[in-house]
Amino acid sequence: MQAVAENIGFDVMAVRKQFPVLTRMVKGKPLVYFDNAATAQKPQAVIDALDNYYKLHNANIHRGIHSLAEEATAAYEATRDTVQHFINAPQREEIIFTRGVTESINLVAYTWGRTNLKAGDEIIISGMEHHSNIVPWQLIAEMTGAVLKVIPVTENGELEMEVFYTLLSTKTKLVAIVHASNSLGTINPVKEIIVAAHAKGAVVLVDGAQSTVHLDIDVQDLDCDFFAISSHKVYGPTGTGVLYGKTVLLEAMPPFMGGGEMIKDVSFEKTTWNDLPYKFEAGTPNIADTVAFKAAIDFVNSVGKIAALNYENDLLQYATNQLEQIDGLRIVGKAKHKVSVASFVIEGVHPQDIGILLDNQGVAVRTGHHCTQPLMHRLGLPGTIRASFAMYNTKEEIDVLIAALTKAIKLLR
Ligand code: PMP
Repeated sequence: MQAVAENIGFDVMAVRKQFPVLTRMVKGKPLVYFDNAATAQKPQAVIDALDNYYKLHNANIHRGIHSLAEEATAAYEATRDTVQHFINAPQREEIIFTRGVTESINLVAYTWGRTNLKAGDEIIISGMEHHSNIVPWQLIAEMTGAVLKVIPVTENGELEMEVFYTLLSTKTKLVAIVHASNSLGTINPVKEIIVAAHAKGAVVLVDGAQSTVHLDIDVQDLDCDFFAISSHKVYGPTGTGVLYGKTVLLEAMPPFMGGGEMIKDVSFEKTTWNDLPYKFEAGTPNIADTVAFKAAIDFVNSVGKIAALNYENDLLQYATNQLEQIDGLRIVGKAKHKVSVASFVIEGVHPQDIGILLDNQGVAVRTGHHCTQPLMHRLGLPGTIRASFAMYNTKEEIDVLIAALTKAIKLLR
């Protein structure tokens, strides 16, 4: 497949070369991978880091005094430093390793939420949240008597900010908001939300599952209290991720899970907690994947986030224009600011049937509710077809999608 990068300074073919999976065939056709919002593919550097770790350095971390334990610990802790710089966190102790965004949000819900929320307090989320940023708050609301409030979403897929301001009050203790919607691509005005929430004394958690790979993240500039990241959406391995939290909040929170590593001293009478970040990292963590996450961030930094973002915006624009030419196709989510997600429905055909027919032509898209059922209910849809683009995708691949879609629609109508 030939592709020419039109963006000066962005060589898509050089990027593609680093992703071995992109050379494979699916159902006899070259793979076109447009399911990046679900999980991104991995560059060779990440695969090598995993391989290298298990081949040469595997050991348990932090307590061993032998060489392998020291090497494994250094590699694991190096990822913490890399993440700290990647999101401009003030201190490395504010980077807590988790399994990903879901665990990061649950950590905040079960520690900060359980200790700080009481009956009548309010939690504000939005109508476009992933189930991961709804269900933990429902569970905590049930336990504490707190009340969940929801910022409505417009037909275009943007937050109704006027309503947000009416929901916000001194009863609001937490705002938990998605930075970029996985279903629609909408980039939410999180900075404005944070300023307003802080003015009422509320803390703000930002779900960065979709934004971290596309946008420059600066937690000091955002001034968010918590920020959640999944490695696997940022070209890193599955099963690892990050919770960033402000020290003052993390220090005051009780531990999430009890076990090894998170303690300072254990006796049957009294156990004391370890310092940050270890207080929240009970048990043997996902060492290898966390070590390899550093290679993913190094890869993103080597390409440059701004160059990649400009390129992805170009892809989104191209795809949107092409998709809109298809008879009966409607783009779902027309926010002014979007990451590279094109969600759409096609009159008279079920998204799932389209997904299967596209796969037969080597094109991987996601169909369904994308773990945002309340959003789908709001939009009156059972689901959408979602093509989400990464920096290794090309306009030629979008042409393949368009041709495959046209063929599929003919078959289904
Ligand atoms: N929030 C959003 C916006 C997401 O897109 C996802 C993943 N689809 C999650 C949360 C959950 O992330 P993970 O499954 O990596 O924990």
